[in-house]
Amino acid sequence: MRDEIAARLRGAGAEVMVDAPLAGRTWWGVGGAADLLVSAPRAEVVARVLGIAAEAALPVTPLGNASNLLISDDGVRGVVLVLAGELADAARDGDLLHVGGGADLVRLLRQADRAGWPGLGPLAGVPGTMGGAVVMNAGTHLGEVADILVDVDVALPGGARATLPASALALRYRSSTLPNGAVVLGATVRCAGDMDESRQKIREHLAYRAATQPTHQRSCGSTFRNPPGTSAGRLIEGCGLKGFTIGAAQVSPKHANFVVNLGGATAAELRAVVEHVRRVVAEREGVVLTPEVHLAGAWDTGWDDGQPSSSTRN
Ligand SMILES: Cc1cc2nc3c(=O)[nH]c(=O)nc-3n(C[C@H](O)[C@H](O)[C@H](O)COP(=O)(O)OP(=O)(O)OC[C@H]3O[C@@H](n4cnc5c(N)ncnc54)[C@H](O)[C@@H]3O)c2cc1C
Repeated sequence: MRDEIAARLRGAGAEVMVDAPLAGRTWWGVGGAADLLVSAPRAEVVARVLGIAAEAALPVTPLGNASNLLISDDGVRGVVLVLAGELADAARDGDLLHVGGGADLVRLLRQADRAGWPGLGPLAGVPGTMGGAVVMNAGTHLGEVADILVDVDVALPGGARATLPASALALRYRSSTLPNGAVVLGATVRCAGDMDESRQKIREHLAYRAATQPTHQRSCGSTFRNPPGTSAGRLIEGCGLKGFTIGAAQVSPKHANFVVNLGGATAAELRAVVEHVRRVVAEREGVVLTPEVHLAGAWDTGWDDGQPSSSTRN
């Protein structure tokens, strides 16, 4: 059955790997295999892949750079979809920039620096893709995606396509509301302002990050959203949890809102650390932290607060 679907997906123009290990593609370096890892180089191919998956009743998990995903040790059932080829490119059109959903933001920022494309501070240092950044409404001290996003192209389950204005996405602090099962094919962002000023601010921002965050260790960035009026890191540090370790998963001694893989951690260990931190902060501080990190794959349960995740056990 799997091989038959793989053949249909290849016939639709996608590259397909069966039983594809995912850990090497994730920032945390953990997670099992995808039943079908499907790479689509063009929007029409994504649409066909979604159509085939819908007919076969297979779940589809879009994967960016997995810099905000905790993938189960038991892997991911169905299709894990990666955007490649022209869906990973960027082009300027006056004061607008068209960025493919699969475009790597670190590369995009380098390209912008070379080409003189201003205004991308909200994406500086975010190691995800444009699609993942839209889903997360990613942001930095210099703003968030919502500040620069004009519209997005999406493919919908079954294969239809639509262009949605930013105002339709309910972009809030590290969250968005896309139509169920939508894949972000690309985004149009504003690219305006003074380039020298833009460069200077980005440089300062990256230096600040390097000084305060464990940028050389495997993490998923901020593990929890900041609760209103305070920072998750401060609460976690206040509970004495810096350095708390289960197996090879640790609350970073450098920044308490980062959970790092010291080398050889499992997804289960990382999740156990995240859940221990939540429990202790809730007990001692009365604040229930909301994970920013999404779960993907075969977990028995999602985060226990209705947080969006692509968790499945089928
Ligand atoms: C070292 C480090 C530093 C970080 N710093 C920041 C920061 O400063 N600010 C910040 O906001 N975040 C930060 N992050 C978190 C992360 O980089 C962002 O959340 C980023 O936007 C995730 O993008 P991604 O491509 O890796 O998405 P993934 O982690 O691959 O996926 C995240 C979610 O988006 C979905 N998704 C991905 N692509 C698509 C698509 N094309 N269509 C539909 N759904 C999709 C996935 O299914 C998943 O639910 C950091 C992470 C790390 C590891």
